[in-house]
Order: sequence, then C-alpha cells, then structure tokens
Amino acid sequence: MKRVLITGAAGFLGSHLCDKFIDNGYHVIGMDNLITGNLDNIEHLFKLKQFEFYHHDVSKFVHVPGELDYIVHFASPASPIDYLKIPIQTLKVGSLGTHNLLGLARAKSARIIVASTSEVYGDPDVHPQKEEYWGNVNSVGPRGVYDEAKRFQEAITMAYHTYHGLETRMVRIFNTYGPRMRLDDGRALPAFMSQALMGEDLTVFGDGSQTRSFCYVDDLVEGIYRLLLSDYALPVNIGNPSEITIKEFAEEIIKLTGTDNKVVYKDLPKDDPKQRCPDITKAKEILGWEPKVDRSEGLKRTYEYFKNKLGK
Ligand code: NAD
Ligand code: UDP
Repeated sequence: MKRVLITGAAGFLGSHLCDKFIDNGYHVIGMDNLITGNLDNIEHLFKLKQFEFYHHDVSKFVHVPGELDYIVHFASPASPIDYLKIPIQTLKVGSLGTHNLLGLARAKSARIIVASTSEVYGDPDVHPQKEEYWGNVNSVGPRGVYDEAKRFQEAITMAYHTYHGLETRMVRIFNTYGPRMRLDDGRALPAFMSQALMGEDLTVFGDGSQTRSFCYVDDLVEGIYRLLLSDYALPVNIGNPSEITIKEFAEEIIKLTGTDNKVVYKDLPKDDPKQRCPDITKAKEILGWEPKVDRSEGLKRTYEYFKNKLGK
C-alpha cells in the first residue's frame, strides 16, 4: 500500500484529497494544526485503519515514522479574511512549513506536490493567465503575506528539484468551491450562500465587475491527482475557465436559492484582482484534464451542503 502524507488535511481541499487517496487504495497520514480547518471534515475517516492523523503545525520540524511515497502539501490559510487575520502564520507555513516538508520528502525519497495559487499572478495585466506569466504582486499590500509566501514556496520547491533532484510538482489552483468550505471564511461563495440562506443582503465588494472563474472541488482534486502522478515539474494551472463577474455570481446564487434577497455594495478590498481566468492548455495537454462539472451543477451540490449545515 502506498503511503501519502497530506498537510492541511482537515481543511476544505485537504479533506477531499484525503478521500481521493483513500478511495484509490492509499494509506493516508493527515496532518493539520486546525488553525482554519475542522476535524468534522475528516471525522468519517478516523474509523479506517488506512487513515491516521497528526495534530501538528508544519512550520515546526515535521517527523513522520515509516516510509512515505508522496507528500501533498496543502496546509495554509487560503481565504483573504483568514490570511489577513493571521499574516505571520501564513508567511511561515508557506516558507518554513514548505522547507520542512521538502526536507522530509528528501529524507524519505518521496515525491511532493505543493499547493500554489492563482494569487502568484497578483492583479494580473495578462488575461487569461498562462503559467509563463510572471505576475503583478504588491509585496507590501495586504495580500502580500499570502502571495509572496506562495511565490517563495514555488521558488524553494524548484530549487529542491534542480539542486537536490527531488521529484516535485506544483499546482496553481484557481478559485475552487464545494462542500466543506467554512461558512464564515469570508470567501465569495460561502458569504453569498450563507447570506442568501439567512435572509440577509448579499455583500458584493466594489461594483461587482471584477471577475473570477470558479472550479468545482471534484474536478480540482482529479487534476491534482493526475498532476502528482505525471512527470511534469513546472507549475500547472488547474481551474475552470468559465469566467463570471462577482455581481452575476451573486445573482446566480440568489436565483438558485429562490430567495428575494438584494445585493448591497461594500468597499472593494485593497489589491482585489480585477480579473482572473486560467489558461488550462497545459493541463489539457499534459494531464488530459479539463473540468467536467459546470457551475449550475456545482452550485446545486454545494447549496445542499450549506442548507444542511445551517439546518435549513
Ligand atoms: P482551508 O483553510 O480550508 O485549509 C487549510 C488547512 O491547512 C486548514 O485545515 C488549516 O488548519 C491547515 N493549516 C494551516 N496552517 C497550518 C500549519 N502551519 N500546520 C498545519 N496545518 C495548517 O483552505 P483550502 O481552501 O482548503 O486551501 C488549501 C490549500 O489550497 C492552501 O494551501 C491554499 O493556499 C490552496 N489554494 C486554495 C484555493 C481555493 O480556492 N480553495 C485556491 C488557491 C490555492
Ligand atoms: N467578494 C464579495 N463579497 C464577499 C466576499 C468576496 O464581493 O462577501 C468578492 C471579492 O472582493 C473578490 C471575489 O468576491 O473580488 C472573490 O473573493 P474570494 O474571497 O472568494 O477570493 P479571491 O479570489 O479574492 O481570493
């Protein structure tokens, strides 16, 4: 049985990755310090003998007994609200945490995949974003703590690959949504869905003309799995290129929930990217991957989860 360490295992994406690897016959070692995650997301796995869990902060030395075939490094706050609240931990997990896991991968001769992000492109002036675009990031702005940590993560991962010959993979993840997102993490989808369900106005920031491209979690997880098993070491965008303005996105959620809530406009946060859409040519060519779940289907599935969570 192959053994995989998944960091950030109790988070939104980490918990779905745990399920994916369990379903594919792996022994999964989950690790998380629960700073933004929740054990509820992986509660169903604790009864399995092929799952174990370590409550640990990966910014500190990481020890895992036994062999490891793969490391899937997803630990990091991910929503702007979260990383503004805990900026130093965000910088540490992207830098020190990644360094620890690269060291562990080397010691175990394991292959490692790290979770990068479309935020490495900053507020992009190239559209859609290709992997070759170097980005437009404000290092001292509020998002700098996250963006620069992730850029450092890519740089040190590349250095371990070229200098130590470590087997490394990097996924640049674009906005992803689905069940197990935290209701109060401040991201657009949980904010809009919980507001709609609670009979509140939906808070659109700015005039809502900024765009995002939302990928359903099952599609993302499949892309990550294929990338890990591929032999491609440079960054690969994984996301759904179907682009929408945030105002239209809020309206879609109002329609889906069948409520008569209104949209209200609030100040646009500093350095909020104006447009974001992945160019997924590489993922298609190298991994034979493209998203399968369209937004109307993905939103329906997510809505069921949020309704249950809120007891509606
Ligand atoms: P999340 O907050 O739900 O999950 C992150 C998990 O990491 C949490 O369980 C948290 O407790 C854990 N964690 C944070 N710091 C840690 C530390 N020092 N030690 C151990 N555990 C720690 O967020 P998510 O949306 O699941 O994001 C997971 C990863 O994917 C992150 O690296 C994020 O940057 C990346 N990503 C996500 C998206 C997205 O749309 N969800 C987009 C781009 C990149
Ligand atoms: N947004 C919004 N209202 C909210 C939360 C977010 O209008 O209550 C906007 C946010 O300003 C951004 C977009 O929705 O333009 C996506 O935000 P999110 O935090 O989900 O992710 P980002 O892509 O900005 O990291």
